[in-house]
Amino acid sequence: MGPGHRAGTVLPVISHPTTSPGAAPPAAGATRALAEAEIDLDAIAANVRTIASVTGNDLMAVVKADGFGHGAVPVARAALAGGATWLGVTSAAEALELRAGGISAPILSWLHHPDEDFGPLLAAGVDIGISTMSHLRTAAAHAARRRTTAMVQLKVDTGLSRNGARGTDWADLVALARAYELAGTVKVRGIWSHLADADQPGSPLVRRQVSAFRTAVRVARAGRLDPVLLHLANSAAALTAPATRFDICRIGLALYGVEPVAGAGAGLRPAMTLRSSVVNLKQVPAGTGVSYGPGHVTAEPTTLALVPVGFADGIPRSAEGRASVWVGGARCPIVGRITMDQCVVDVGDRPVRLGDPVTIFGPGPDEPTVAQWAHWAGTNPNDLLTGIGPRVARRYLGVAA
Ligand SMILES: *Cc1c(COP(=O)(O)O)cnc(C)c1O
Repeated sequence: MGPGHRAGTVLPVISHPTTSPGAAPPAAGATRALAEAEIDLDAIAANVRTIASVTGNDLMAVVKADGFGHGAVPVARAALAGGATWLGVTSAAEALELRAGGISAPILSWLHHPDEDFGPLLAAGVDIGISTMSHLRTAAAHAARRRTTAMVQLKVDTGLSRNGARGTDWADLVALARAYELAGTVKVRGIWSHLADADQPGSPLVRRQVSAFRTAVRVARAGRLDPVLLHLANSAAALTAPATRFDICRIGLALYGVEPVAGAGAGLRPAMTLRSSVVNLKQVPAGTGVSYGPGHVTAEPTTLALVPVGFADGIPRSAEGRASVWVGGARCPIVGRITMDQCVVDVGDRPVRLGDPVTIFGPGPDEPTVAQWAHWAGTNPNDLLTGIGPRVARRYLGVAA
């Protein structure tokens, strides 16, 4: 993450924009980014309420990867304002960034170096997701040194085959955790796992994982652990598979307003709108080559608009030939190759002027949605949202935070 990107997380919240982003005058001495991701924090808070109204559950807002590219601290604040009770992150650095941002809500962090120094997480009061015996030993040792108790949440692998313990490793992890509980260095607050096929409603794999999870919890209770926080569901499962909900649901994609199951329509509000503007316009005759290579030649006389965003900003090259943007009151196609910094839009005979705003994606239905872009690029919305580059300024709207 570049410095520009980080700076986005500490921008003051702008309550109500008085000018369109493309027209905002720069502050004296400031430069203005060529593209801007406008993040609607009210949408984040509303999505938490919407999801909670469906699930009836407590929610853990997953703000890893800089809040899926939206800015971890502002998203976390908005999610908490909407009623989320936990925050989930991948790494110690992400957890500590939230604490440095003044957030005191409970946090679970779940990916660690083999020899992670858990001291900073313990000092910051962050729960540690534990998948291995060695991490459990390390956490207990750090806690003993600090004369404190490490709050841990044990992860069981129920079929995803990523992190988490399985089989006899699970039983061993439970036994070791109980020994540390008796020594006072560890307390197992939660038990959790992650689903492999949650975006396929009715998937038999989800049913098998729920059953494996229940078995793992029974093993833990038989081993005299008393976890109060059981969790398995991600966004898709929370919204479509009640049996996965347990005590709390870990919500990532849906928090940002992307429907996690195609067609399931939970009424979520996309939080990010990606905008740029027209920086060059030219009328060209039929037969004009556009962008690198021989790929695109105009079929008739037309107007080409240059938009200063490219794959370094997260616009996927693989969407070439399919993608369109909203400019001049219409959807207009990106033509020719998407390059590192720029792409060319064929605006036909529309009355587009220099400086006109270009919406690359947003809530729709005028502009494309991030889900549409994902389809064009042959990827998923998470990939696109987390790929929005550091040159893109983040601007925050809404009063949620
Ligand atoms: C990213 C992640 C989530 C959030 O998943 P969504 O499908 O985006 O809701 C939940 N749990 C874990 C362990 C994750 O890594």
